[in-house]
Amino acid sequence: MSETVDLAAALVRCATAYPPGDELCAAEVVARFLDVPGVEVELQPLDERRANLVARLRGSGQRPSLVFCGHLDTVPVGPGAWSSDALGGEVRDGRLWGRGSADMKGAIAAMAVALRELVASGQVPQGDVVLALTAGEETDSCGARLMAESGIVDDAGMMVVGEMTGLDVGCAHKGLLWVQVETTGQRGHGSVVGREGNAIAALMAWLHPLESLDALVSGEHLLLGRGSVSVNQIDGGDAPNVVPGAARAVLDVRTLPVHDHAGILRALGERGDAATLSVLREGAPVATDPGHPLVRACADAVREELGRPAVVKGLPYLTDASVFVEALDIPVVILGPGQEAQAHGVDESVAVAALEQATRIYRAIAQRLLEPV
Ligand SMILES: [Zn+2]
Repeated sequence: MSETVDLAAALVRCATAYPPGDELCAAEVVARFLDVPGVEVELQPLDERRANLVARLRGSGQRPSLVFCGHLDTVPVGPGAWSSDALGGEVRDGRLWGRGSADMKGAIAAMAVALRELVASGQVPQGDVVLALTAGEETDSCGARLMAESGIVDDAGMMVVGEMTGLDVGCAHKGLLWVQVETTGQRGHGSVVGREGNAIAALMAWLHPLESLDALVSGEHLLLGRGSVSVNQIDGGDAPNVVPGAARAVLDVRTLPVHDHAGILRALGERGDAATLSVLREGAPVATDPGHPLVRACADAVREELGRPAVVKGLPYLTDASVFVEALDIPVVILGPGQEAQAHGVDESVAVAALEQATRIYRAIAQRLLEPV
């Protein structure tokens, strides 16, 4: 079995579901793997059981650093019957099975092996090659935020995030804005109080008409299509005969690079002061020009490995790239083994061949961008 598959299987065997996280175990597996002369490894703790990892191969400083980024946490194993141990890391029928195999411990292993191979080649790259592994991507990107705020990857000039793209080159994804809308009223007996004190009536009036929310995310992006606003949660009231004193809705807003989140919040505020707005989660949209040298280097490396032109596309899901693009304003490509459909479900798996291809592709990207010509 290849080094990449061995390392990916060892990572699957570390239980790192977030919540609660417990990513330290997986970070230590990678730290041990990269404990070789020429690699500087640093663990960045979130608490005693959680950590980010930053590993660095020093370059000559002629070019900015190239950062390979992945997340150490997974979603929980969840309900449903798996055909093998979800945390066993079994290799069978040409695939690695288990929670996190596709999302995204396989990609982390491919990046770590590529980094070690670059070190072993003995060539000094023109810029640092950095492996940045985050805790807590699933749910709130808390590890990426800590990493960005700490300045530990401030030297980054470009980034490859190894989320599942089926080895396609993802150069854009939508942003996300979850806005909670709360109204209050006068709680009272259903037979006595009028509609003006009713929190649900106030919430409905604020939301109406729903179609008008679409104007907040107008426009279209070549790779991402249209933005959207969807009311995905609503609740309020305690009993049929009690006028509700509070009601709440949550808007799921998906944005394009042209949309400004602060502007969207301002426009929502202008719908009336009957509601209190709060942001539950936010991630910036990501878009790198398809003609950027990073995108071209990724597409060339994929073409060379797969023997066919790379597919350059936009992606529907959010990644840690949002955090780093906002903090560092750098070009980002999302490129990794595995298919999005394999993530988060029962019997998650990734093809062994894709892990080995990804390893060669990551190494080739670093060589194309940072090797002396
Ligand atoms: Zn992921």
